[in-house]
Amino acid sequence: MDFKDLTREERKEALAGLGEKSFREKQIFSWICKGASSFSEMTDLSAALREKLASAYSFEKARVEQRQKSSDGTEKYLIAFPDGQYAEAVFMKYSYGNSLCISTQVGCNMRCSFCASGIDGKVRDLKAWEILEEYLLCRKTSGQEINHIVLMGMGEPFDNYKNVSEFLRQIHSPEGIGLSYRNITLSTCGLVPYIERFTEDFPQVNLAISLHSAVQSEREKLMPVAKAYPLERLIPACKAHAEKTGRRITFEYALIKDKNDSNKNAEEIAALLRGINCHVNLIPLNPVTESGMQTVTRGFAHGFAEKLESLGIPCTVRRQLGADIDAACGQLRKKHIKA
Ligand code: SAH
Repeated sequence: MDFKDLTREERKEALAGLGEKSFREKQIFSWICKGASSFSEMTDLSAALREKLASAYSFEKARVEQRQKSSDGTEKYLIAFPDGQYAEAVFMKYSYGNSLCISTQVGCNMRCSFCASGIDGKVRDLKAWEILEEYLLCRKTSGQEINHIVLMGMGEPFDNYKNVSEFLRQIHSPEGIGLSYRNITLSTCGLVPYIERFTEDFPQVNLAISLHSAVQSEREKLMPVAKAYPLERLIPACKAHAEKTGRRITFEYALIKDKNDSNKNAEEIAALLRGINCHVNLIPLNPVTESGMQTVTRGFAHGFAEKLESLGIPCTVRRQLGADIDAACGQLRKKHIKA
């Protein structure tokens, strides 16, 4: 059994089983957050306890397999886990601070037609400590502070709710990183029951919804998950989230040439979202070879944004970062495992 596989509560119980007080868990947790790679480094624990722990538990580590740096300051990381699986994380510089985009699963089961992460399905969920380790490794390797986290890498966070929520509690904990929930954004393709749970569990974490079409029949073609959770269920859950939390919800919309980019489409988005405290983030599609779909120019995206704004929907066009390194979600890992 690996010590880090346990939740923090389970670690307290495990320590109690070894006859230790629960504050030892806090000490060990802060060592984990400092990047310790073994119990023997945890010098504020007695030598006897360190030995007891090392004989009862393993203490696995992830490592950086590859790091690509872009001329605009973006850094893309391929993180290797102990079982030989990989996930991607992307470090980005913004005027308001540095942001890290992290993965929550290896692969993904949602199979959105434009996305590289889901092409081969899900391999496995990432554990809470593995998600935390993406942050710890990227911070250490980049040598820079990370002020924001977005759960927008590989995977569907709500298809791994238990581990993702444990991760959120860990990174937020003052004994660890102490990252404010307001500086974290989670993106989902729209698993409605988990949106409702998240509203209760993490009202301060920002929520982003992958919309990509405001028309049910079209959205189903792009995102199979829309069949299980149609817009008529998704939109009320988003509205309830925005109302209960008092926070503005983000809708992500990848602009795909000739699929969801017409004036009529803009009007449909506005009609769907009117009255919700929200903001639309337009992303010119990052073309993935396998999908055969085409992107739009940035000029076009800005025109679409103006149209939405004129219809009363606040809107931004996502900056394109790291254009000279492997771009779209899941592409770096796919390339690496094929090589
Ligand atoms: N599973 C989560 C997080 C995934 S990725 C979700 O679906 O929200 C984060 C965002 O990138 C999502 O909005 C996703 O739909 C989008 N995305 C995936 N592939 C893309 C591509 N090729 N171009 C543009 N956006 C993409």
